[in-house]
Amino acid sequence: MGGSEIQAMLTRADLEQLDRDDPLAPFRGRFALPPGVVYLDGNSLGPLPRATPERVAEVVTREWGEGLIRSWNDAGWIDLAARVADGIARLVGGAPGSVAVADSTSVNLFKLLGAALTLRPGRQVIVSERDNFPTDLYVAQGLAAFLGGKHTVRLVEPGGVMDASGDDTALVMLSHVNYRTGAMHDMAAVTRAVQGQGALVLWDLAHSAGAMPVDLAAADADFAVGCGYKFLNGGPGAPAFLYVAPRLHPALRLPITGWLGHAQPFAFEAQYRPAPGLTQAIVGTPPILSLAALDIGVALALEASLSDVRAKSIRQIALLAAMIEQAAPGLFRRVTPDDPARHGSQLCLSHPDAYAIMQALIDRRVIGDFRAPDILRFGITPLTLSYAELWDAAATLGAIMAEGAWRDPRYAVRKAVT
Ligand SMILES: *Cc1c(COP(=O)(O)O)cnc(C)c1O
Repeated sequence: MGGSEIQAMLTRADLEQLDRDDPLAPFRGRFALPPGVVYLDGNSLGPLPRATPERVAEVVTREWGEGLIRSWNDAGWIDLAARVADGIARLVGGAPGSVAVADSTSVNLFKLLGAALTLRPGRQVIVSERDNFPTDLYVAQGLAAFLGGKHTVRLVEPGGVMDASGDDTALVMLSHVNYRTGAMHDMAAVTRAVQGQGALVLWDLAHSAGAMPVDLAAADADFAVGCGYKFLNGGPGAPAFLYVAPRLHPALRLPITGWLGHAQPFAFEAQYRPAPGLTQAIVGTPPILSLAALDIGVALALEASLSDVRAKSIRQIALLAAMIEQAAPGLFRRVTPDDPARHGSQLCLSHPDAYAIMQALIDRRVIGDFRAPDILRFGITPLTLSYAELWDAAATLGAIMAEGAWRDPRYAVRKAVT
């Protein structure tokens, strides 16, 4: 039952049958989700793996409390970032050593944009899409200003990067899956076209890593970044990752040069010398507690077959869209492309009162999110979401619309985080 197969009226029993046949169903028990909550926001903050509290407590009590500074060696803290990075490399199709885990996605963007501009000294333009995630655009704008105004950030409408890039383009920076609409680029085709013009390409995998098979090496991508707290379930503010194609490592120079990126940090030399490969991207002391949590999330993602995850995501998006249409006919406009080859792992619907409707949904324990100006965003995380829950989410939305429950004035009050 996917896309075009959904014609007849669906019943909850149909969805329960899909759950019985679901090869990913056992993963649900590996996460500690509160009972009665339908969680459709794992693309914004992944849920808590059951193994995480105990592991983090062990790192705090035993490794920190008893081991003290010895744990950098004895508990393997000094290599933890590299071990987690190699797991993420497998998830995104990178060779061992092509991914580093450090800092936030925003800071990693700064590091890689700086590196890209140094690799293309004669070119001054970074091209991106106007509806790319704002932090990506802000970091590019900040870097261009910092470099004294010689560089510019050129923003184009979605899908327009090739028309806007040319001899002056150093880098094209794109999100593989758009955070607001769920639209997905053809990574290999865009990479080829950009490189054909002599520019480099950077992919933001915030909404792809752990959500679907990604093959950076096969696409021959130059750079990528991504989040640890979304589909990788590393917890709030989990360290992010960056990818650099191995062919670029010898010439790579990052604009933040810290002691743990030095060739010999414990020689305490006065002169910076970059460590080989991506070790130079580990700028300062890694956040061990957060890395321990991310390690668990990444290990869980590695246990699952990402092609099963992708197949279930595509099917769940088609079903959720069909069931919402069945429960609230004609009320929402689908923003996410219909074609599975062109969408990520979320369903986005627009409605003029999207904010209040989402607040009413959250009040009834169906948690998605709102993205300005008018989008209801439902993240699909196949490791935790059952088919029957999607039925319940659609039925709850149908009831809220039929009753007009979202008109309650308290749902119009904007919170700081949407
Ligand atoms: C979530 C997200 C980010 C977040 O960046 P942080 O520095 O981790 O806050 C960046 N880019 C995209 C495309 C995102 O979806």
